[in-house]
Amino acid sequence: MRGFKNFLPYFIFLFCLTSFLKKSENLVAIDSYSSTFFLDIRYATTNNFLKEKLYDCSLCLLLPEVAEALNNANYYFCDRGYVITLFDCYRPLSVQKKMWAKVPNPIYVADPAIGSVHNRGAALDLTLRTLNGEYIDMGTDHDFFGREAHIDNFNLADEILTNRKILQDGMKSFGFATIQSEWWHFNFIKKNGAPVLNIPFPCN
Ligand SMILES: [Zn+2]
Repeated sequence: MRGFKNFLPYFIFLFCLTSFLKKSENLVAIDSYSSTFFLDIRYATTNNFLKEKLYDCSLCLLLPEVAEALNNANYYFCDRGYVITLFDCYRPLSVQKKMWAKVPNPIYVADPAIGSVHNRGAALDLTLRTLNGEYIDMGTDHDFFGREAHIDNFNLADEILTNRKILQDGMKSFGFATIQSEWWHFNFIKKNGAPVLNIPFPCN
């Protein structure tokens, strides 16, 4: 019995390790839920604030529960004449470190020592397009680092404020929360504390 007690911490460690590994492998591509999303994954191109291609391919990976909630949100928006367009989903920790090296400002980029909710597969950067594929006006582009992008900036045209409200109301009703400095960013509340991951994109 005493021998078992001595080994107990190792059993717990192994259990936690295997649980972590299982979770690590648990990201799903949003395309496997639905093909109705538009993907405009900016970090798979040079059209981003680093002007550098950071992902080897254009993929939106998320924890399954987050993907399911997002899929439900997309149905909600489709009923209202819009479709979700995704700028960023899961982001490997190695990419977070590159971003932080360029913009070490926690208002706009999460410190990799803590990790972004994107690194946990539970955050999204997104906007809405009409069913004809036209972007609706949200006042700024994705990754605009300034006051115009803040969600408490009401000094904007009525149309923009209405568009942002449509986006926020819809996302909130499916378990997502806004952040103050970026109108495009949403965290899935239930998975805010999921483990930080550094799995490369499975591009091949
Ligand atoms: Zn974001």
